[in-house]
Amino acid sequence: MQNNEFEQRRRTVAGALPERKLDALLVSLSPNLRYLSGFTGSNGALLVLPDDAILFTDPRYQIQASLESSCRVRISKGPLLLDVAAALKRLRVKRIGYEPARMTCDFYESLKGRLPLKASLESVNGWIEELRMVKSSEELARIGRSVQTNSRAFEQTVSRVKHGMREQDLAAELEYRMRRAGAEKPSFETIVAAGERSALPHAQPGSARLEQGLVVVDMGAFQDGYASDMTRMLHIGVPAAKTKRMYRAVLEAQLAAIDAVRAGVRTTAVDSAAREVLKGYGLDRAFTHSTGHGLGLEIHEPPRLGRKDKLRLKAGMAVTIEPGVYIEGYGGIRIEDTVVVTERGCEILTPTSKELRVV
Ligand code: ZN
Ligand code: ZN
Repeated sequence: MQNNEFEQRRRTVAGALPERKLDALLVSLSPNLRYLSGFTGSNGALLVLPDDAILFTDPRYQIQASLESSCRVRISKGPLLLDVAAALKRLRVKRIGYEPARMTCDFYESLKGRLPLKASLESVNGWIEELRMVKSSEELARIGRSVQTNSRAFEQTVSRVKHGMREQDLAAELEYRMRRAGAEKPSFETIVAAGERSALPHAQPGSARLEQGLVVVDMGAFQDGYASDMTRMLHIGVPAAKTKRMYRAVLEAQLAAIDAVRAGVRTTAVDSAAREVLKGYGLDRAFTHSTGHGLGLEIHEPPRLGRKDKLRLKAGMAVTIEPGVYIEGYGGIRIEDTVVVTERGCEILTPTSKELRVV
């Protein structure tokens, strides 16, 4: 990412401070910090001012911060909080925007306690997340590479799946292949769940062995900081007619939802496209989560494509489409791709075949 892309983002934020009646914005959430500064360290805070930006971090990141970011870097020997509070005092800023979503009460209280009485902290929940929804071409290229890596790791691993293999061994192999293919790490804990356990949408791989039945594989990579996300189904042995019908239902629902994606369409419309198909199969009540989510610097970020989410899609948003059905005591099926919204529809990034793979 070019430094001028980060600078442009900071200018956008700085330019919007007056309309939000703010003198400064304090960014503490690490994906937002990275989005605005380029800094990838684990300990940092960014103060965006009308004509300036200060990045606070600790001595471990002294070199890294100046390499990664064109912001002014302030190295704190103690807790960053103390230096942030001192800077706010010195700059005499009165109204300071902050991100309550994942700030600890402890940090908030300590910061508030150190500010002059006239200064106030104003919640700006979701502001930067909103900016992050529409990706730049460089961000889309990174997501595309992450998707490619993830799919390559899946192909390389799935060709070696055998009866009796443990879920956790398959998950470990997928993550190893992913890293060998260029990922920094998985974008979430890889899900491998066999048999009845496939009905748990967020199962953790365990010591269960892959025996006759469904296997759900939900995996994603982080590459150059950007996430991918994909779910595919395997079947050990010949699938029963009931399983095949369930699979067809989910696949049709997924294709219908993908078909509904287009700039200007409400996220609910995409969700109901999937739900309508499942209803036709009498399986809508077995679909217990939303149809998809945005992804980028985080694996789950806005927009959400669910029943109650009325946001309109915009070209350049990267989202997943992942309907699923889950039947307790039987198994679950989910199919998930990563797509990019365009003016006329969407571009499906995930290259992996959606056929049920029989092992
Ligand atoms: Zn997933
Ligand atoms: Zn997902």
